[in-house]
Amino acid sequence: MKKLTAIISVLAVLTVAAFIIYDAVQPKPHTNSFFSMNTYCSAEAEGKNAQESLTEIKKIVENLDLKILSRTAEGSVVYNLNKNGEAQLDTETEEYISLLADISNKSSGAFDFTLGAVSDLWNFGGTPSIPDETKLAEALSHSGYKKITVSDGKVTLQDKQAVIDFGASGKGIALDCIKTCLETYKTKRAVVSVGGSVLLFGKGDFTVGIRNPKGDTGSYIATLKISEGCVSTSGSYEQHFEENGKRYHHILDPETGYPVDNGLVSVTVISESGLLSDALSTACFVLGIEKGSELAENYGAKVIFITEDNVIYTDAETQALITVNDNNYSMAENLT
Ligand code: AMP
Ligand code: MG
Repeated sequence: MKKLTAIISVLAVLTVAAFIIYDAVQPKPHTNSFFSMNTYCSAEAEGKNAQESLTEIKKIVENLDLKILSRTAEGSVVYNLNKNGEAQLDTETEEYISLLADISNKSSGAFDFTLGAVSDLWNFGGTPSIPDETKLAEALSHSGYKKITVSDGKVTLQDKQAVIDFGASGKGIALDCIKTCLETYKTKRAVVSVGGSVLLFGKGDFTVGIRNPKGDTGSYIATLKISEGCVSTSGSYEQHFEENGKRYHHILDPETGYPVDNGLVSVTVISESGLLSDALSTACFVLGIEKGSELAENYGAKVIFITEDNVIYTDAETQALITVNDNNYSMAENLT
């Protein structure tokens, strides 16, 4: 167990050290890394109560997962909802679900957090394989965000076989909870990553690496210089497998139940809200460049698309924040 913990710690440090490059802060920040929400989490904080805030951050992510978002932790809100078809909600969880339903609605169902049964058939978290077509069609027929109703602090699934999955938004929700904690602790400056979602907290600029979608963890094609906020990336490189020479990845088209195949390899969204950055990066991946840009704009978020043929698409304002440092990649004409 000790050995496993050590390996996880080292991997976490490597992943995050490679993923985020942020401007040097003095004095040296306190750091903490751990594994939660099925992903690597890492935090660096500087200023008054930095160490205490890091201890609290770990508790926040673990509690959010175990008590609310996890599909597998017995007794969590999502576990109960999937098991019983209904669950009581606290105010915050009701707000998350309402906002996710709004994103589903505005994306015409491209974002769909009821696809859990379909994702399970692909089994990207375990040993993935192409599901049986009949089973896939059956699981898909029970999914659909319109089957969720929220009222008076209670969420109900109209179809009890629908399976709620916060895989596309939980990491961002964690960042929003962490931000509140950092404000309470009056932390001066912090960078916290939960998987591919990063919170930049405090005054001044931060430089975030945009991962090479075709390279190893830790290789970057560009950097993004921004002030505080949340940055989330959804990539087809994250969970995938190959069969008969074709690549299958974990971001699914809710219309077909198959991985999205629209020429994109990664989508990064910048927003003040962690939930929005995370959910929109998945939604924009499914929608593609044109409709994805419109959706992000609707929520006041910025979006960067990278295509299979190594072209980066974004708006003029965001382009000014990006430095491309891999000659294989080029910026497209600005999106409007
Ligand atoms: P992310 O890495 O944030 O883009 O989230 C990807 C995860 O979200 C997947 O592993 C699934 O659990 C879930 N997911 C896949 N496709 C969709 C979709 N179209 N809408 C919402 N969640 C999805
Ligand atoms: Mg996401």
